[in-house]
Amino acid sequence: MARVRLSGVSKTYRRGGASVQALSAVTLDVAAGELLSILGPSGCGKTTLLRVVAGLDRPDAGSVRFDERDMDGTSPQARGIGFVFQTAALYPHLSIYDNIAFGPRARGAAAGAIDASVRSAARRMHVDDGLLPHRPRQLSGGQRQRTALARALALEPKVLLLDEPLTALDARLRAELRVELARLHESTGATTLFVTHDQAEALALGHRVAVMREGRVEQIGSARDLYERPANVFVAEFIGTPPMALIDATSLDGSAGDATTLGFRAADVRLDPDARLRGTVRAVEDLGGEAFVYVDGEYGTLVARCIGADAPLVGAHVGVSPDLTRAHRFGAAGRRV
Ligand code: ADP
Ligand code: MG
Repeated sequence: MARVRLSGVSKTYRRGGASVQALSAVTLDVAAGELLSILGPSGCGKTTLLRVVAGLDRPDAGSVRFDERDMDGTSPQARGIGFVFQTAALYPHLSIYDNIAFGPRARGAAAGAIDASVRSAARRMHVDDGLLPHRPRQLSGGQRQRTALARALALEPKVLLLDEPLTALDARLRAELRVELARLHESTGATTLFVTHDQAEALALGHRVAVMREGRVEQIGSARDLYERPANVFVAEFIGTPPMALIDATSLDGSAGDATTLGFRAADVRLDPDARLRGTVRAVEDLGGEAFVYVDGEYGTLVARCIGADAPLVGAHVGVSPDLTRAHRFGAAGRRV
């Protein structure tokens, strides 16, 4: 395992006459053996970040270091990485066995060692022995993705790069493989960068989560840091279900100070017939144990959580009472104040 450090990494792609800034001065320090989730909407630069770490793309500026070593000029093969993509990019004409054996063979390992590493990687990813002679197209999507993970493992990577490896699977398989990925990470100890656009997946798997937007890292922290102290309104709205409600600070009495926007989690907003803030129920999400009630008013939209009481009907006029002591306060450029 290696410590992975990016400092000031920028990458611009040219497309036609235009240029796209895929990464802007990204700085990250991933501890040896850490599992870092990289979370952000589509197009924010997640894949580019992994490609730069892998050496498939060269940054325009900044450096990538594994431990103390600058990786510039080091080929992807020589970096000691394993890379798994969203859809298992297996060689269709090779058997599952040969797909997994590809890396160790390319490195010129002895036949006995190749066989041992194929079988051990397959076993760890629950790819049954019976599947090894088959071709990828004979396998289900889940089995193919397990094979892709086993192929990466057989390389005994120091750094494992996972680019939305679960996104293409159905919900049940996704949950199953998510648990296995966590277990796998524990047993290999490889420094892992796990890319996803799904916040639940990012928070559940990562020791820390880096939230990206438009080529920049907006915040890095534990699930709790991001939830309790979002650095700006983007992270505040991106992390948590339902998203944090943001309202204009002048809608409420009391000194907003230098905050222009206040944010409230649904757990900190109550329905209260005597409340001064009034609104109309636009939507109710009843999850059985709790319900989220979206209330539109002059202030914007607040979401209240109801537990153990009947949620109001859509269209009802209600009072909402946000707990001001729990407000998240944001000022200029949406930054936390
Ligand atoms: P993500 O993985 O978060 O969806 P990407 O890293 O794939 O984002 O892309 C970041 C930005 O760079 C996007 O605007 C994308 O269109 C652009 N981009 C990515 N790869 C290329 C490329 N090879 N040529 C031109 N533009 C690219
Ligand atoms: Mg991508």
